[in-house]
Amino acid sequence: MDTMKKILHQSLQKLSEQHTKQTLGDRRNYLGASDVGACPRKVILDRINQPEHDLATLLRFQRGHKAEDILAEAYTAGGYSNFERQVEIDISTDNVPCLVHIDFVFTSAAKKEKTIVEVKSGKIPETVYSSWESQLYLQMGALAKKYPAYTIKGAILSLDLSEGDAEIFNSYTPNDRLFTALVQRCEHIWHDYQQTLNGQEVELQTNVSPLCGFCSHIQTCPRFQADDLDYPEMIHYVQEFEGYRQAEKESKKRVANHKNALLGMVNARGSFRSGGYLFKKVTRTRQTLDKDRLSRFLADNGVAMSEFERSSTFSFLDIKKAPKEKQPQ
Ligand code: SF4
Repeated sequence: MDTMKKILHQSLQKLSEQHTKQTLGDRRNYLGASDVGACPRKVILDRINQPEHDLATLLRFQRGHKAEDILAEAYTAGGYSNFERQVEIDISTDNVPCLVHIDFVFTSAAKKEKTIVEVKSGKIPETVYSSWESQLYLQMGALAKKYPAYTIKGAILSLDLSEGDAEIFNSYTPNDRLFTALVQRCEHIWHDYQQTLNGQEVELQTNVSPLCGFCSHIQTCPRFQADDLDYPEMIHYVQEFEGYRQAEKESKKRVANHKNALLGMVNARGSFRSGGYLFKKVTRTRQTLDKDRLSRFLADNGVAMSEFERSSTFSFLDIKKAPKEKQPQ
């Protein structure tokens, strides 16, 4: 990593630590709402060995904070002043210190209504993640406990800043049974965390999900030790991926067919406008290197083309049908 990048990485690390301290305090001393939907093993190990984040992760964190700031500014500009940010509610029990932080709470005193807006930034998922919903149910339960005279509602706002897209997953209301189960889950995680801190051997619960791809503890994770990861969650995830790949192939084919037909129309009658788009044929010239001529020229001057070639490495995900295991005779 060059020096400029190193400085940026270290500075972002500091910024991230400062932000966490200011908004969430020391997360080793309590569990938060986002922990309840996460993998217990990851939650515990992250607290014991706080991971060093890479540059991409740190930038993602900042993008998340910026998304919240943009929303706050937009709501204010839109004339909404009835909201609070980073609302903290203490729902600790005898068995677990638990602090819930809520991105936005909008209050209508007239309607006696409080609405949570939890903000998620990044790619917008097709369907809402269950970990997001668990977090929201814990937040709604906490708010309902604190304000029993109010009707509580909840929404998750998923923002993709790079694509300029937003999706709202709406109409959530508190559910007592779920809230109790989630608090019990927190107690369980906290219990295992304390035992691990005390040096006891605990088999930590795991929760395999797409987030495993971003987990700092995957190398030691019991769910990822074998070469054949043939358990239901992984198989389901791979099948889902296969479905998306097929759909992508189909849609690429359809886009190409439509493009072809539209180009045929433009070729036949010239530019036209339709459906809010302008279709016209553009011809551009691209400079390409005549390698054969260059090679001959170099050879005439006693130099081989290969002397100017250099290799660079790159990585990609290679996916093939796995060969069937041989059955024992
Ligand atoms: S790899 Fe997945 S299952 Fe294992 S600890 Fe990390 S998040 Fe949990």
